[in-house]
Amino acid sequence: MAESFVPKTPAPAATLSDKVFQNLRERILKGGLKPGERLVHRKLAQELGVSTIPVIEALRRLEQDGLVIGRANAGVRVVDWDDHKVLSEETLREAIECQVARCASGRLTGKVLSGLLSKARSVDKMLQKGMGSRPECIEEHMDFHLTLADASGFALLRQQLERAWFRHIITVHSQMTHAKMTPSDWHSQLIEQIAKGDEEQADKAMRLHVRYNRLESDGSLRGMPPRQ
Ligand SMILES: [Zn+2]
Repeated sequence: MAESFVPKTPAPAATLSDKVFQNLRERILKGGLKPGERLVHRKLAQELGVSTIPVIEALRRLEQDGLVIGRANAGVRVVDWDDHKVLSEETLREAIECQVARCASGRLTGKVLSGLLSKARSVDKMLQKGMGSRPECIEEHMDFHLTLADASGFALLRQQLERAWFRHIITVHSQMTHAKMTPSDWHSQLIEQIAKGDEEQADKAMRLHVRYNRLESDGSLRGMPPRQ
């Protein structure tokens, strides 16, 4: 497979259920399985040449990751996005990313720091070439943020960030309307800020980073819930 959204870090697929999970996740991420599309486990099992058990297990994991939704009498469907759901996801990702930045600040030294700076330069170079929506750039971008999450020292933060990123990738694909040109040193500057070791400064730098493409020209956010 030439193009893949599967991140570089996880262990290779070990079980049949893992393989089915990765296959379905990739199809959802690439839009092969569309938002709102019904996923019938018997049909998928037949198509993939496996029994229904690994398919049912994979669908359960996809539901835990927020990529599909199962409802009584309505079966399992790929999650459908609207502005408010997208904003909810972005708000959650911002919370996790900012906590990652806080926890990682003061821990970025030596090889960890040089590794992150090198990944940062690589992502920035791709973004400057206008490759932001290309799978290889998205993969590199996600890998950079997950490596920073590794440096936070909290595996749970990293796990939740990875899930949030997969959902983010889908919403970026379904709403490619507001991406704007990023600074040439967008990520390396972010790492330099976080590496200063000041939690508040790290949080602020990451918040601006995550919100970069979310701020509309009037400074307001799309999809905000109505004020009471
Ligand atoms: Zn980024």
